[in-house]
Amino acid sequence: MWAGIDLGGTKIQTVVIGPDHEVEGESRRPTPHEGGPPAVADAMAGAVREAARAAGIKPEALAGIGVGSPGIIHARRGVVASARNLPDWAGEFQLARALSDALGPKRVRIDNDVNVATAAEYELGAGRAYRSLLGVFWGTGVGGGIILRGRPWLGRGAAAEIGHVVVKLDGPRCPCGRRGCMEAYAGRGALEARARHRHKKGQHTDLFKIMEKRGRDRLTSGIWARALDAGDKLAAELLDEAVEALGAGVASALNVLDVEAVVLGGGLGLRLGEPYRARIEEAMLPHLFASDDPPPFVLAELGDLGGAIGAALLVER
Ligand SMILES: [Zn+2]
Repeated sequence: MWAGIDLGGTKIQTVVIGPDHEVEGESRRPTPHEGGPPAVADAMAGAVREAARAAGIKPEALAGIGVGSPGIIHARRGVVASARNLPDWAGEFQLARALSDALGPKRVRIDNDVNVATAAEYELGAGRAYRSLLGVFWGTGVGGGIILRGRPWLGRGAAAEIGHVVVKLDGPRCPCGRRGCMEAYAGRGALEARARHRHKKGQHTDLFKIMEKRGRDRLTSGIWARALDAGDKLAAELLDEAVEALGAGVASALNVLDVEAVVLGGGLGLRLGEPYRARIEEAMLPHLFASDDPPPFVLAELGDLGGAIGAALLVER
């Protein structure tokens, strides 16, 4: 059996999968906010032990551990650098070595979180019928993954940054510092900043009331969904703009790549689900060059576990 860890800014999702790719055990715990990379590595090792226990095996019996991580990955050295949404992780950290030290000598492989999630959908999920694929992960940011002729396309290392496709010249500031990126409208982080700004300027919204009531300190995907269900006008307005931006951004990427299918995942994508998938598909059409023959645009099938399953596939190969 193999363990896969999806390392995120808020949670560490871990699975143990068997030879038939069934999930045999899993564990989910919050990402520690203090103690920097060593504390995060400790929590990851704890999560692997817990998932192994759930699968009925000892951690020593695992054949390998795969990690899907944010930041810049130096796969050969097992290093993760500049993972800005993880605590105090600006520099380099020997993550593979830390996991081996904690769990016993093992094959540890690390790759970009969005690449492994795309690979999982390609091999086992909604993309398995296709040879080329664009994965769009609509969450805190908007990440992308590309598979061409059955292989991930990494470019020179920075390919598939679909969130930073420009949808408006001189548009709003993106979390990346540039202007007019799709993510500046659609990323959950940017959406929250836009909501705060408009709320401060006097526009009514219940978003922040719902946030407080649920004891959260940020606008999670669930809070957006609740506000939409309650008919919150500002939430609906901002998500309308997000849908338009996603439509333009994904269509632009398709105009270049013309892949066989697009898979939509990510925290917001999965939480808002089918109605928003359909809306984004419709928003794509006016921008799509091959508008008479758009490729299938489908929801990710592996859900929340896709990233962790994809990470396990890294060591299973
Ligand atoms: Zn950007």
